[in-house]
Amino acid sequence: MIKDIKGLHHVTSMAADANTNNQFFTNTLGLRRVKKTVNFDAPEVYHLYYGDELGTPGSVMTYFPFGTMPKGRRGAGEVGVTEFAVPEGSLPFWTERLSSKGVAGLAQDTAFGETRLSFEGPDGDGFALVESDAQGRTAWTSGNVSEDAGIFGFRGARFRLRDADATGELLTYMGYQKAEHEGDITRYVIEGGNAADTIDLEQVGNAAPAADQGAGSVHHIAFAVEDRAAQLRVREALMQTGYQVTPVIDRDYFWAIYFRTPGGVLFEIATNEPGFDRDEDTAHLGEALKLPTRYEPHRDKIEALLPPIAA
Ligand code: ZN
Repeated sequence: MIKDIKGLHHVTSMAADANTNNQFFTNTLGLRRVKKTVNFDAPEVYHLYYGDELGTPGSVMTYFPFGTMPKGRRGAGEVGVTEFAVPEGSLPFWTERLSSKGVAGLAQDTAFGETRLSFEGPDGDGFALVESDAQGRTAWTSGNVSEDAGIFGFRGARFRLRDADATGELLTYMGYQKAEHEGDITRYVIEGGNAADTIDLEQVGNAAPAADQGAGSVHHIAFAVEDRAAQLRVREALMQTGYQVTPVIDRDYFWAIYFRTPGGVLFEIATNEPGFDRDEDTAHLGEALKLPTRYEPHRDKIEALLPPIAA
């Protein structure tokens, strides 16, 4: 069994309009934009990262805003809900705030003893705010959302799967423990990790598979490991179990490996090192356009292709 996974690292999704995306995460949700860079494979598309002050692993929601892009068809075999942790008692504030801003899909319920507010992102992305303990985390307070309501980071994620058991076995191998079961949902928890420590698997039976990944679809979900040595141990263990894992890829702010899981969700294992302050002062994270080294000679051309984004 793998012992190096520390919970979630980041979640990466696709979006349509970059400014709408930026406005939603920085203003409406009050996260900090911690990096403004471009897609490694398509430098004419931004890669925007939002999180806490430092972009601590377990707090980072990232997006590829493609401009115009049809919405993905939601269904089985994907991350259905990305869940953020918010302070106990803050959901009335959030209900009022999201409602006043016209956010769709607002619905409050409870699961596993936690009070949750579900809502949709600008492209129909599935999100929930879950009342949780801070567990040592501090919300980014930008002036948009005060400290008594600010998002701490991720709580976890809920996958929608036709065969939850196969992914459950994988999670168990990755160090998660099967915890509680409620309705069609089984909760898996990782001990000794960061605070983004739950994965809920929702068995959706005969639901149509998610298709045409597009705006609002989660592209992949990344799990955290401390460093590159831990990442190599995880890679070796996964390959010994028969998973096809990519080589280690340098993503500038972390190192990444990827593999496809039985339920269809693309997993990444990302290192906590080196972090988002490797090329910017903490005070100015996310302000300047940062380019991967190989694109730096083409900066003028790339900047001309990217839509300007409000601070
Ligand atoms: Zn990633």
